Amino acid sequence: MSLANGRPYLAIPGPSVIPDRVLRAMHQGSPNIYEGPLIDMVASLYPDLRAVAGTSGHVAMYIGNGHSAWEAANANLFNRGDKALVLAVGQFGLSWANSARAMGIEVEVLDFGKSAPADMTRVEDALRADSGHRIKAVLTTHVDTASTIKTDIPSLRAAMDAAGHPALLAVDCIASLGCDEFRMDDWGVDVMVAACQKGLMTPPGMAFVWFSEAARLRSGKSDLATPYWAWGPRAEPEEFWHIWDGTAPTSHLYGLREALDMIREEGLPNVWRRHHVLASAVWAAFDCWSAGNPAIGMNVSDPAHRGWSVTAARFGAPHATRLRDWCEKQAGVTLGIGLGMAPSTDPAYHGFLRVAHMGHVNAHMTLGALAVMEAGLHALDIPHGEGALAAAAQVVAKGAP
Ligand SMILES: *Cc1c(COP(=O)(O)O)cnc(C)c1O
Repeated sequence: MSLANGRPYLAIPGPSVIPDRVLRAMHQGSPNIYEGPLIDMVASLYPDLRAVAGTSGHVAMYIGNGHSAWEAANANLFNRGDKALVLAVGQFGLSWANSARAMGIEVEVLDFGKSAPADMTRVEDALRADSGHRIKAVLTTHVDTASTIKTDIPSLRAAMDAAGHPALLAVDCIASLGCDEFRMDDWGVDVMVAACQKGLMTPPGMAFVWFSEAARLRSGKSDLATPYWAWGPRAEPEEFWHIWDGTAPTSHLYGLREALDMIREEGLPNVWRRHHVLASAVWAAFDCWSAGNPAIGMNVSDPAHRGWSVTAARFGAPHATRLRDWCEKQAGVTLGIGLGMAPSTDPAYHGFLRVAHMGHVNAHMTLGALAVMEAGLHALDIPHGEGALAAAAQVVAKGAP
């Protein structure tokens, strides 16, 4: 018998849960896109988009997903034949590198594997070796959603400065914006990309590129920036339609306005803290489960290197897939597949999953998901250590990581 009827919980790392407030805000007919309230509402988005990124710089909006945000950044940062240095700690860093390569950019990848953080001395060495300054930008994920490794952006900036290299720093915050602490200006980030369907709690369809004045001055020369991808007219439009190089994504904009209101009402530091506490509850549960079965464990051993919005874990094949199926069919909780750990045709693939704690999530949702996982471990006879739910509840009771 299934106990899944009731409100389902999609606990995958994007798209995330859409708040009812956002859904209601989107439910409107088409507005006039030439004059009237929409124009003022869009103007009101900019201060909040800057605030959530921690920047006083420029913002370009696109109709697109995260992959489009990568291409937007590539198109404005590089000329054909320029070089990019990419730090990869999982599938998403490698995919950004692929998108750059496909656009005719020469790419040097520093691949740190799938479960260790980036080694900044290797970055510094690679930049020092580039004495002709062919590398125009360093690209990295803040949180790689596949491995769930968080990259220490201030340390990366320090390594770039130590090398005395003029490359710009571009960071993918698609999985972390509005979840994990990020301070674009304070951390010396020149370009940051995100999409709306993760921490920004809006259905997939909008992408954003924030860029510094230094990046803007550099980008004037890019021969990859076609009219659609050029960030200049979008960030400093002479006409309203320049913001999207065409028709505005009207429903998404209403949703985004509401989501940014929700973030502002809660307070960005509180949003970060909520994610950190809920992540810590998940980690406490895993520590207990794995104590009774070494096949169970989190992908990232040091909590300092774990993202606050999603946790990648292993259960030993085929138990991760069995557990995901059970949680969805018997209890209405959908967990994320493991990504980039093993090909989907490899039996090892069925040993990995991810638990999202991203965006519009609160204590009862995270504790509920963990309790469902615990029930699934029992129902499926997967050996595991005891005390996971009590440990998670204690983190929530303490209200601190
Ligand atoms: C989700 C995600 C992407 C890809 O976004 P899409 O909307 O699926 O194209 C890229 N980078 C990171 C870090 C992500 O989490």
